[in-house]
Amino acid sequence: MKAVAVTREGSGPELIEVPDPTPEAGEALLRTLRVGIDGTDHEVIAGNHGGYPEGDDHQILGHEAVAVVEDANGTGLEEGSLVVPTVRRPSGADGGHFERGEPDMAPDGAYVERGIVGAHGYMSELFTSPPEFLVPVPDSFAEYGFLVEPISNSEKAFEHAFAARSAFDWRPESALVLGNGPLGLLTLAMLETERSPFDRTYCLGRRDRPDPTVDIVDRLGSTYVDSRQTPVDEIPEAHEAVDFVYEATGYAKHAFETVDALAPNGVGALLGIPEDWTFEIDGGRLHRELVLENKALFGSVNSNVGQYEAAKDRLTAFPDWFTDALVTGVYDPDDADAAFETGDDVIKTVVEFDTP
Ligand code: NDP
Repeated sequence: MKAVAVTREGSGPELIEVPDPTPEAGEALLRTLRVGIDGTDHEVIAGNHGGYPEGDDHQILGHEAVAVVEDANGTGLEEGSLVVPTVRRPSGADGGHFERGEPDMAPDGAYVERGIVGAHGYMSELFTSPPEFLVPVPDSFAEYGFLVEPISNSEKAFEHAFAARSAFDWRPESALVLGNGPLGLLTLAMLETERSPFDRTYCLGRRDRPDPTVDIVDRLGSTYVDSRQTPVDEIPEAHEAVDFVYEATGYAKHAFETVDALAPNGVGALLGIPEDWTFEIDGGRLHRELVLENKALFGSVNSNVGQYEAAKDRLTAFPDWFTDALVTGVYDPDDADAAFETGDDVIKTVVEFDTP
């Protein structure tokens, strides 16, 4: 079968031929429809994040997928129905996190991540999986169901943010998303859906207008903030101190500037994955600010099945124009090179292996 992979000798994603997988007992065989590409895939390709499956000289990419159950193989799944696979699989002692349905909280080393670290991803015509790692989705998700995975990461961050403020009567009004990449824009759209508690949202980028990501920010009814003119720690002065910050730039200074962007009692979720970077901060002032203003800052990665379920509702609530504007390219596996090209007119791309 065809697969899009990185190889130890190669310098980028390439189309390779690998044997069709055979499901083991307790595993279903899935036929891949679409696989989305995000910043993490680019970090895996660059070798900054993740790692090859043990003993293999290639890694099949892709962790955001939607697929059809091709052969249920006694798992109880319905053949022909659609599923979205989760990313983490247990590897060794995990302290019971997988058993308790919270793989996202397992420590490093207790899991592999399909398409990211230590396991093959979903960018191939077929893949196999036990049913507990597959979330059923309606037939209408064939086109954009791959977005359930990234949305679920933000569902988790929201859940943890609200949990961190649940000991008092928190009444948030404003939210700031750092980053106008695919994760930032998806999260902004989530914050703009009807059931969101936020009245005012902001989104930070570093692009000149006209720009397709800034157009989306405008169309969502949010306020665009250019970090070249208004650094994160000056947002309170230029706009307002915000109740919630969601960081999706991977720009390490933003983690600390978030403390200044927050209003008293606010909470900041960090999701970006930066490279090592040494810089100076006034640690004493930031520490004091966190304490005296009851601010919270936390990191968040991955998600659990409950958060995938919540993501399904959220995807359904997005206006059609948003998903159409977010996904700027759909590519055949034979054009995988083009699918990974970046540029100011590229927001999110997808590799399409099949249609239902
Ligand atoms: P991208 O790299 O596509 O997007 C990052 C965006 O941030 C880009 O639009 C970039 O602007 C913008 N940006 C970077 N630095 C600045 C700055 N100084 N000022 C203003 N804007 C800035 O990544 P994704 O959207 O796919 O993901 C975001 C981050 O989250 C990545 O680090 C990714 O690895 C991580 N991630 C984490 C997950 C988790 O569970 N924790 C899940 C998925 C992703 P420009 O394009 O103009 O350069």
